[in-house]
This record gives sequence, C-alpha cells and structure tokens, in this order.
Amino acid sequence: MTASDPGLTDLIAAHTRLGAQQVGRYLCLCGWVGDYHDHPAHVALVVEQHTTRRIAELEARIAEAQSLCNATGRYNAALQKHWNIRVFACDVLAALKGKS
Ligand SMILES: [Zn+2]
Repeated sequence: MTASDPGLTDLIAAHTRLGAQQVGRYLCLCGWVGDYHDHPAHVALVVEQHTTRRIAELEARIAEAQSLCNATGRYNAALQKHWNIRVFACDVLAALKGKS
C-alpha cells in the first residue's frame, strides 16, 4: 500500500462485528444487524461509499487547482501583453527622441 487513508482505517474500525444478537443475527458496531455472512458485504458497501466520496473530493480539488492554474496562466498572458505594449511604447519614444 502506497498511501494510507486514516479515515478509512477509522471507518473499518467503526464497523466491527460485535457478536450474535440472536441465532444467525449479528450486530455491527454501527448498529447494523444482519446475517453473519452479510457483514462483509455491509462493510464493503460502507468502504465503497467512503471511497467514492473521497474520489469526488479529490476530483473537486484537482478541478479547483486546474482552474487556478488556468487563471494564473491568463493573468501571466495579460501581464506579458501589457509588458510588450510598454516595451513597444518605450521603443517608439526612443525612436522619436532619436529623430529630434
Ligand atoms: Zn456497520
């Protein structure tokens, strides 16, 4: 595993199977009650929902960073254009002064 997700570790810990409520019925730490064999599927669903949410959060952050980069790029382009105009204006002034 390259990067751990502490939220996921806590999440799995919050879904520990506690024990039999009655014959064949087991209780999860979160309050879920179901068949012994259904508990792994219950935990898998919770993990899938968590992962989907985390991916959506990361995608939103990537999109935000991307739009920030685009905005910075536009700003730099505008700055460069402004600078080019200034340089051009200085060249024109210098040329005019040189003529007089
Ligand atoms: Zn649970």
